[in-house]
Amino acid sequence: CIQLKSVSKMYGNTKVISDLNLSVKKGERLILLGPSGCGKSTTLRMIAGLETVSSGDLMIDGHRMNDVPAGKRHISMVFQDYALYPHMTIEKNIAYGLMVNKVNKEEVARRVDQVLSILNLKGLERRYPRDLSGGQRQRVALARSIAKQSTIFLLDEPLSNLDAQMRVSARNELLKIHETYHQTFVYVTHDQMEAMTLGHRIALMRDGQLQMLATPYQIYHRPANVFVAKFIGTPA
Ligand code: ATP
Ligand code: MG
Repeated sequence: CIQLKSVSKMYGNTKVISDLNLSVKKGERLILLGPSGCGKSTTLRMIAGLETVSSGDLMIDGHRMNDVPAGKRHISMVFQDYALYPHMTIEKNIAYGLMVNKVNKEEVARRVDQVLSILNLKGLERRYPRDLSGGQRQRVALARSIAKQSTIFLLDEPLSNLDAQMRVSARNELLKIHETYHQTFVYVTHDQMEAMTLGHRIALMRDGQLQMLATPYQIYHRPANVFVAKFIGTPA
């Protein structure tokens, strides 16, 4: 349902994404994996419409999206540096976007309640973001995106602020969410374990280029090149 056809991205004279071909199936959890600076966030931001595509085509459900503004793409995105509204309670933070989109009051209340319980945030709804821990804030950002019930869900290192134990439970929560809503996930991480456990397929990038796109099993057992093997930690 998402297709990148020979997509490149230039910042000034620097090419940060080169000739990227990628397709994500409906309901698939695709992981974008790779070292810092390889272009993961840029790729996600192009899909979301927050960055323009310099060349190539971005297709969603068969429609060319290059010139469609972010607000009309019906995509939810959770950012690396989750931005909550500081002057709104947790409950309002989640409800706000829904009210803007004219979802009716009862439905807003129902969804807020549902995502709060999925992410174990019950009891915090009247607090403000500054009164939460970093990990709790990250969960609120996730909850807010899930409540929108978009069919495409882009996540940019959504668990980066959690400790090791919470990461594991948050991973399971994400799988639960996916089981409930069957969204198409494009999930950015530089954590191999996270990629292996969450991904139906993994796209491994390096310096703006796709190195391999395959299942976790294939990536681990049949790495396409030395970089893939090293990055994944396949025994030599
Ligand atoms: P990380 O894991 O550190 O988040 P990333 O894979 O998400 O890295 P990107 O943020 O996509 O990497 O950046 C890819 C490259 O593009 C980097 O070299 C970065 O410095 C460059 N870049 C990103 N945004 C801009 C910008 N607005 N202007 C110029 N260069 C940029
Ligand atoms: Mg990034």
